[in-house]
Amino acid sequence: VIEIANLHKAYGALEVLKGVSITAPKGHVISLIGSSGSGKSTLLRCCNLLEDSQQGDIRFKGEPVLWKGQGHNRRPADPAQVLRIRTNLSMVFQQFNLWAHMTILQNVMEAPLTVLRRDRAEVEQAARAYLDKVGIGDKCDVYPAQLSGGQQQRAAIARGLCMEPEALLFDEPTSALDPELEQEVVKVIKDLAAEGRTMIIVTHDMKLAHDVSDHVVFLHQGLIEEQGPPETLFGAPKSERLRGFLSATH
Ligand code: ATP
Ligand code: MG
Repeated sequence: VIEIANLHKAYGALEVLKGVSITAPKGHVISLIGSSGSGKSTLLRCCNLLEDSQQGDIRFKGEPVLWKGQGHNRRPADPAQVLRIRTNLSMVFQQFNLWAHMTILQNVMEAPLTVLRRDRAEVEQAARAYLDKVGIGDKCDVYPAQLSGGQQQRAAIARGLCMEPEALLFDEPTSALDPELEQEVVKVIKDLAAEGRTMIIVTHDMKLAHDVSDHVVFLHQGLIEEQGPPETLFGAPKSERLRGFLSATH
């Protein structure tokens, strides 16, 4: 679904991604791990074109992103393509980013109604079903502030699902949560993995990465230091840096 080849990204003079390639085939779960500042969030945001990049290719379902300009002036050339890609890659953030003035149901319905212009009755039915699926079907009419962090994050996941995306992109979905609440969200992510959803997950939770991933990518200072299936990456890490990182996170 998503292919990134030799991606370079800098903020001004700060090179954050120095030639990174990742592929998320349909139905696969890819986890991105690495120290703070290694470029994980930046890479995720480049996938759905929330960030510009200066060099390298991005493909969505085989369709190459079209660019105009070069280097620091490079931008996506086709706004319709950007919209198509962005609406097909639902992003779930560490801080949930629910709209505080809308009920949970309205939060989930908003983008399918306004961005995709889908039929209201159909969207409402789908929204209620997704909220049921993540275990908060009884919370449709309350506001985000009335929910626990774990419930808010599950609402954010339902909102992502209601766009019927090709893939879900998670940026540390459990990092803002207390351990008990974290497990509610982990369970939802595991269920999504089990039903064959394509996902890229940035996480500090090595158990989650181990349990749900088909492929794990360890980023270090903007480069892939090591990657592989979770059994190998966690069971027999080759790089000294990865070994150090893993022992520090235990
Ligand atoms: P963390 O685990 O702390 O979330 P990360 O791996 O997600 O870290 P990024 O957020 O991708 O790291 O940041 C990579 C580097 O880019 C860091 O040095 C960061 O300070 C820098 N950076 C990120 N966003 C911006 C920005 N908008 N402007 C300038 N520099 C930025
Ligand atoms: Mg980050």
